[in-house]
Amino acid sequence: MITIKSAEEIQIMREAGKIVAAVFAAIEPLLQPGISTARIDMLAEEVIRDHGAIPSFKGVPGVVPYPAATCISINEEVVHGIPRTDRILRDGEIVSVDVGAKIHGMHGDAARTWPIGDVSPELLMLIQAAEDCFWAGLEQAKTGNRIGDISAAVQTCAESRGYGVIRDLCGHGIGHNLHEEPNLPNYGKAGYGARLLSGMTLALEPMITLGGYRIRQKNDGWTIVTADGKAAAHYENSFAITDNGPLLLTVSDDELSV
Ligand code: MG
Repeated sequence: MITIKSAEEIQIMREAGKIVAAVFAAIEPLLQPGISTARIDMLAEEVIRDHGAIPSFKGVPGVVPYPAATCISINEEVVHGIPRTDRILRDGEIVSVDVGAKIHGMHGDAARTWPIGDVSPELLMLIQAAEDCFWAGLEQAKTGNRIGDISAAVQTCAESRGYGVIRDLCGHGIGHNLHEEPNLPNYGKAGYGARLLSGMTLALEPMITLGGYRIRQKNDGWTIVTADGKAAAHYENSFAITDNGPLLLTVSDDELSV
C-alpha cells in the first residue's frame, strides 16, 4: 500500500533529510586519496547521532545484518559497498556514499558520487549524468503524473547519452520505513504505474553505468557490482509530492532556496 503522509510527517522527514545533507557536508572534505572508507563511515555516524538521529541502514536484515551507517561504493561497485578499514581511497577513483537517517520514527535517504583526486573526464561525465538523470526524473514528479513518467525520464536521460541504467535495483517509497511501496524504477514507460498523489514520499536513485545494466552481488552478501566491471555512479534524494511540485527533503536549507 502506498501511504500518504501528513504535513507533520513530511516536516519530520524534512528534519531527517537535513541531517543526511549535514552528513554529506561533513564528509566531503575527507573524500581524498588516502582515507579509509571506514573513517568516512565513522564521521557520518557521528553526525547522525549528534543530531539525535539513528543511522537507517545499520542492522538492515540480510545474509548478515548491514554493519555500517553508510554504503560506500567505489568504481564498479554500484551500491551497498560496506565501509572497511582496509579499503583506502585512491587517486582517480569515484566513490558513492549512500546515507540514511531516522528521527522521530521517520527516514531520509540520499546518495552522492564524488571524484577522488584527479579523475578522468569520462568518469566525471558519468557522475554528472547520474545527477542529471535524477533531475530529469524529478521534473516528472508532479501530481497527476505516474511512476512510469519518472522512470522513463531517467532512462531516456541515461540511454540517450550512451550510459547503462541499472534495472534490478530501484528507488522506493520512504517514510516510517526506509523502503516502502511503490518501487520507483529507473527505466520504464511513461503513462504507466501508480498515479502520483500529493503527500507521497519517494526516493529516486538513478544508478548509471559506463557499460550495461547487469549486476552481480559480491561474496560479502551486500556489495553490488556491475557484471561487466564498468564504473557506476549513483545519485539519490528523497522528496515529497506536493500540489506545488516536488519538495526535496534530503538537501540543506541553502540548497533548497537555490
Ligand atoms: Mg534509497
